[in-house]
Amino acid sequence: MFPCTQCGVCCQNIKNIPELSEFDLGNGICKYFDFTNKTCEIYDNRPNICRIDKMFELEYYQYFSKKEFYIENAKACNKLQEMANIDYSYRIKIEE
Ligand code: SF4
Ligand code: SF4
Repeated sequence: MFPCTQCGVCCQNIKNIPELSEFDLGNGICKYFDFTNKTCEIYDNRPNICRIDKMFELEYYQYFSKKEFYIENAKACNKLQEMANIDYSYRIKIEE
């Protein structure tokens, strides 16, 4: 499973994700993001686009090994975290 550190920053940056356009409060934040607990209010029923492992199974296996896919996702997570000044302890470290 992808080693998500549950920083919550991806759920606050959905502006450019067409599959989540209906979920955007208008400021890039998902309407199902619970700020208090940094969790998803519809976690068990969240769309596939919110599920890294599912997206690999459905589509990205064609283009990447699972490790490569995890590394690319981790880079995106870490970049978003840096931009949002999220504590370094949340960074995802995957050995290349
Ligand atoms: S940005 Fe990455 S580490 Fe943070 S909650 Fe989303 S998937 Fe998890
Ligand atoms: S549906 Fe849940 S996991 Fe997906 S962006 Fe919204 S809060 Fe995050």
